[in-house]
Amino acid sequence: MNDQPAGEANQEIELATPVQFLKHVGPRRAQLLGRLELATARDLLFCFPRDYEQLGEQRAIDQLEEELDVTVVGEVAEIQSRRLRAGRQLLIVVIDDGTGLVRCLWFNQPFLRDRFSAGQRLMVSGNCRLKDQGWEISHPRFAQLAEDEEIPAGRILPVYPLTEGLSQYQLRRIVADVVEQLVEEIQEVFPDSVLAQKELIGIQQALRQIHAPDDQQLLDQARRRFIYQEFLSLQLALALRRWSLRDGRQAPALPSSEKVHERILARFPFQLTAAQQQVIAEISDDLQHSIPMNRLLQGDVGSGKTVVAEYAMLLAVTHGHQAALMAPTEILALQHMETLQQDLAESRVRIGLLTGSLSAAERRETLQSLADGEIDLVIGTHALGHEDVRFQSLGLVVIDEQHKFGVQQRAMLKNAGQAPHYLVMTATPIPRTISMALFGDLDISLLETGPADQQPVTTLLAGPDERDSWWEKFRQQLLAGRQGYVITPLVDAANDEQLAGVEQTFESLANGELEAFRLGLVHGRLPSEQKRRVMREFADGSIQVLVATSVVEVGINVPNATVMTIEDGQQFGLAQLHQLRGRIRRGQYPGQLCVFSEPTTDQSRQRLEALAATTDGFELAEVDFKLRGPGDLFSTRQHGLPPFRIARLPEDFPLLDEARQDARQLLDQDPGLRQPALAMLRGRVLHRYGNVLDLGDVG
Ligand code: ADP
Ligand code: MG
Repeated sequence: MNDQPAGEANQEIELATPVQFLKHVGPRRAQLLGRLELATARDLLFCFPRDYEQLGEQRAIDQLEEELDVTVVGEVAEIQSRRLRAGRQLLIVVIDDGTGLVRCLWFNQPFLRDRFSAGQRLMVSGNCRLKDQGWEISHPRFAQLAEDEEIPAGRILPVYPLTEGLSQYQLRRIVADVVEQLVEEIQEVFPDSVLAQKELIGIQQALRQIHAPDDQQLLDQARRRFIYQEFLSLQLALALRRWSLRDGRQAPALPSSEKVHERILARFPFQLTAAQQQVIAEISDDLQHSIPMNRLLQGDVGSGKTVVAEYAMLLAVTHGHQAALMAPTEILALQHMETLQQDLAESRVRIGLLTGSLSAAERRETLQSLADGEIDLVIGTHALGHEDVRFQSLGLVVIDEQHKFGVQQRAMLKNAGQAPHYLVMTATPIPRTISMALFGDLDISLLETGPADQQPVTTLLAGPDERDSWWEKFRQQLLAGRQGYVITPLVDAANDEQLAGVEQTFESLANGELEAFRLGLVHGRLPSEQKRRVMREFADGSIQVLVATSVVEVGINVPNATVMTIEDGQQFGLAQLHQLRGRIRRGQYPGQLCVFSEPTTDQSRQRLEALAATTDGFELAEVDFKLRGPGDLFSTRQHGLPPFRIARLPEDFPLLDEARQDARQLLDQDPGLRQPALAMLRGRVLHRYGNVLDLGDVG
């Protein structure tokens, strides 16, 4: 780069150079790049394409052949916009490469007009056809080229994520220039042994290939290398955290005994199920050691997780330590409080409550009692994680409904001397793919069957002409003494007449199909007093049919309700439909669900078909995840982790699995990742995950 033309500012750049000072960038574009979170030259090197464009074979125009997928490079000779009949529009851009002309056609995309200007150097790619007026390509892929720019030999063009005001052409040029100048500054992250063993290409070659692939095979290798790196870093971070918890601080050992076991069981108003006993055995096994437990308990709503938590907490209290139960909402915290107070009514266990709605005086008093050890068992919301909360001797933390909290909160309750054991519980079935990616540092217990064998439920997917026969069935259930739900997606359909609103549905049922029955209405916008009244009346049977939005998804338990209609089923997520259906699996009678829907996409159709095919929550979660991809409920962002830059789940799951095993192995041999060969890797891991995963003590 010594022979830069004079005037072209191109001082030495470094990895840390702000993008503003790079070639082809200035203050305005720097701002646009900022929106893509690209601040330095280094960021650009690691701005991976979101996709690639495969180009046809490059040909001169006088060498074209009918129906060939070709790429032509030339100058824009002419641009025409035409109005066709029936409001259709045609844009024609004529390309001249010196050997002939090609007409490029776009129908009904008038906005493309601004992308072209006469004399511009353009590359177009597509299927060429010979017409009366000469060669034509309809809707070609196209890219603007710089004066001296060649088509990449591998004919694969990167497609970067963009933001308004920044074109693909501009970003390609900016990145290509940075790659050329700086790629050799990037140091290898993996030791040679890992590269060899995993058959990975080196980082510099991988960077070159990811931005400008020579061929598909090298591109695949480059992607594989970075995906593996991304997964390995995350798994190492998770494993390092687990190690840091184990290494420094010990937790109190809480062994159980036959006597203790019997005494705790005597507290419960029922026999434990086999599944609960199994999980309790797993937990007791962890708790007898001074290695802090870090266990995720998964079990559907109603599977009986609370008792398991209670058991573990009482074990801690038995040994003279405190236990804390953290719930995502105040209502849930109060519910737990009530359950525990009942179960422990005649015992000496002192229970406390810490939520955001305590008065200042109450709060002060509770904090004092926690610090003095006068409270054995505290229940609360995230207020428990506040920094001024001190425990005398916290032995166990239980976090209910983990999916509502981010990863960070798990490490929130810190104890002065010892580390507490952790039990986190979730009702959301998390597919194995996800729990491994995000909770690779947790042991997992499953509560697979609930206390009462859940009733079978039949699921009918129906269209409009099956309405009459369905409502007949619905009425028969009511006449037989059962109760039912009708669920709609919206509170009010006024703004979207295509969909059923709960109020309109209520009106029309009350004056039509369900005229003869007592109906109640509930949705999120009602005053809470009214909500509670309606729910109470439904629970005691004075209301026979509850017409509701998805507010009834959680927490409602009316065993006599056996029949449910869901309107506009395509509007609900799969997890939500599964939870809703759970409402009619509670009692002694089999349930019947009918979902009316007008699936508008393949995805919504597949979702509903999966719902009809199985009642297994984990199976459904796996299907849901495959359909929706990672960008959704289980996205890394949702859990407080930085998003993957290149890896995609579930497609890349096999590599994740490898990375997890490799991470465990690396740390088994070298618990703190201290060997010099791993220094670079360790640095990257701490840089990316150090803060979110609270790896401070590892550094
Ligand atoms: P979740 O897993 O949703 O938190 P809960 O712990 O609230 O479930 O339990 C759901 C219901 O089942 C509660 O009313 C609870 O008292 C009851 N329950 C739990 N375990 C048993 C059991 N072994 N036998 C009978 N009822 C049980
Ligand atoms: Mg619960």
